[in-house]
Amino acid sequence: MRFSRVLPAIILFAACSPKGRGRISSYIYKSSGNTALPHDADGGIIVRVKLFAGESLTVKADDYTFTSGKTTRRGSGSLTITEEGVLQPKGYFVLGGKRYHGALEARRDSGGWLYINHVSMDEYLTSVVSHEMSPSWHPEALKAQAVVARTYLLIKMKERAKKPYDVDTTTNFQVYGGLKKGDTGARNAVAETHNEVLYHGDKLAQTFFHSSCGGTLASAEEVWGKSLPYLEVQSSPYCSAAPVYKWSIKIPFSEIGRRLAASGVRGVSVAERGPSKRVKTLNIVTARGTKKVRADKFRTALGALKVKSTFFGVARDGNAIILTGRGFGHGVGMCQWGAKLQADERGTSYRRILDHYFPGTSLRAVNAQSV
Ligand SMILES: [Zn+2]
Repeated sequence: MRFSRVLPAIILFAACSPKGRGRISSYIYKSSGNTALPHDADGGIIVRVKLFAGESLTVKADDYTFTSGKTTRRGSGSLTITEEGVLQPKGYFVLGGKRYHGALEARRDSGGWLYINHVSMDEYLTSVVSHEMSPSWHPEALKAQAVVARTYLLIKMKERAKKPYDVDTTTNFQVYGGLKKGDTGARNAVAETHNEVLYHGDKLAQTFFHSSCGGTLASAEEVWGKSLPYLEVQSSPYCSAAPVYKWSIKIPFSEIGRRLAASGVRGVSVAERGPSKRVKTLNIVTARGTKKVRADKFRTALGALKVKSTFFGVARDGNAIILTGRGFGHGVGMCQWGAKLQADERGTSYRRILDHYFPGTSLRAVNAQSV
C-alpha cells in the first residue's frame, strides 16, 4: 500500500519544511490531480528515499511523534525503533550522524527492515546538489546540477511508482546524505531553477552525469547499448583543469587474477575501443589462454574509485600493468567538472551548460502529462 494512502494527511503536510512549502506548492501537481506521484496536503511532491540503517535503528530527534497503527507516542531524544511506524520530528531526525528532514517510515520487509525517508522534493534536491557537487561551487554549475537531478528524479519516480521507494542514497541513483552544513548555494540553485526540467520532444530527457569526461563525452549507446540523440560522442575540453582529468595506476597481475577469478594472469591488452575511444573489451592473457573481459566489468571488479574510467591505455611494467587514464565516471551526459570550469572561467550560464551536454533538448517547466 502506498505511503500516501496510509499516512494521515497532517503528517505528510508536516513532512514539508515550512521554508520549502511555498515553493513546492506551486509545482503544477497541485491542480493537475491526474498524476500518480505522491504529494502532500499542500501539493508538494514527496520523495521516498531508502536509507541504509542496518537491523537495529536508533534515531535522535527533538519533539517527535511516532505513529504505529492507531497509537501515536510523543517524545524527545533517542528512540530505538522496534515496531513498524512513522517517525515525524518537528525539525529533523539524526541517523548515523546525519540529519534528515521529513518523516521516517520503518516497515518490515522480507525478514528485515526497510527504512524510508519521506522528504519534500526541494529538500531532497538540495541534498543531492550539495553532495554531487560542493555547495560552494559556482551558482551556474549548481543550477545545471539541480535541473539534471530534478529531471532524473522525476523519471525514477515515474518508473518506480509501484516500488516501495523511488531512490536510495547512493550513486545507484544520486547521492543523498541529508542536510549538509553550508548548503545555501545548493538551496538557492534548487529554488532558482524551480520547476525546470530538460525535455527531448515531449519526453523528459535522460539526464545522466559524471565527475569528469576526460575531454570526450561517451555516447549512451557505447556505455549502455541504448542510443539517444542527445547523448552522443562529442569533444568536451572544459574539464582539463580537473584533478581527475588525468590519472594513472599500477596494478599487479596477482591482484587482477584475484579480482577477476582468473589464475596465472600474464598480460592485459586492449581488445576493442568504442567511438569515444573508451575501452570496450580487454584481453586478459592467462596460463590457460586469452579471455575477453568487458572494460566496465574490469573497472567494477578492480574498484570504480581506483580505475576511475574506461578511458585508459595499458602498458606493462614487470608483473604488473600501468593504466594511464582520463576522466572519472562513465562519461555520458553532464561532466560536472566541465560544468564548474565553464562557469568559473567563462561565465557560462546553466542554460548554455545544459545545451552543451544535452544538445537538442529544451529547458521547460515540468508538464504533468509527461510524468
Ligand atoms: Zn569534461
